[in-house]
Amino acid sequence: PLPRPRPFHLRQGLPRAKVVLDPGHGGRDPGALGVTGVREKDVPLDICRTIRDRIGRSGGPEILLTRDGDVFLPLNDRIAFAEEMDADLFISIHADAAPTPDARGLSAYTLSERASDGLADALASAENRVDRLYGVDLSHTDAAVAMILQDLAHRYSHHASRTAKQKLVSGLVGQIDLLYNPMRSASFAVLKSAQVPAVLLETGFLSNPQDERLLAQTESRRRIAAILGNRIATVAGELRIQSGA
Ligand code: ZN
Repeated sequence: PLPRPRPFHLRQGLPRAKVVLDPGHGGRDPGALGVTGVREKDVPLDICRTIRDRIGRSGGPEILLTRDGDVFLPLNDRIAFAEEMDADLFISIHADAAPTPDARGLSAYTLSERASDGLADALASAENRVDRLYGVDLSHTDAAVAMILQDLAHRYSHHASRTAKQKLVSGLVGQIDLLYNPMRSASFAVLKSAQVPAVLLETGFLSNPQDERLLAQTESRRRIAAILGNRIATVAGELRIQSGA
């Protein structure tokens, strides 16, 4: 049976927290391809829709999606949407290919100038290439991560991003299979927000047959979405209280 949504850590009278979920890839960008042909772009879209339908309608945080169909969306537009919506939390959801086929399980990433490890670096490089690959002009959007992280104005969102990552992952222990060292960081372009705490979640790796099977089956994918949704709702509420909103 699916776990039920938990009560949310929102104080009485506070406005609902707002979470922007970002299904990775889409349209002409299929993302990673699984060993049996599953397309990455389809997996996070279904997970994000499931979370929105379960959590957004149960009194939890308001859930907005950067895309709600099979459309291509440049990386910058995704984070710009979260900033325009004044979101409390931005979560980009993926199911990429890992550099090695034995890597499996969920992992969470925040922005850093230097990658925490080779796997995170490889994922960020692959993700950051998609705009160039699929014909987006980046000449006006190439902000340096170092500058972003040095800017005092960005300290809150950077700190809150790491807090959100830790809270998300720690609450998933024992509920979802996790990658070894599930909390990592790298220079993901989609996480370069000045204002909105941002985390990228790899729900699993399509390069791993076991993960692909889990993510391809509707039932197990919905179960992952339900668990993730509950966790996201809790973390969003806690962030909102901490930020004094
Ligand atoms: Zn991806």
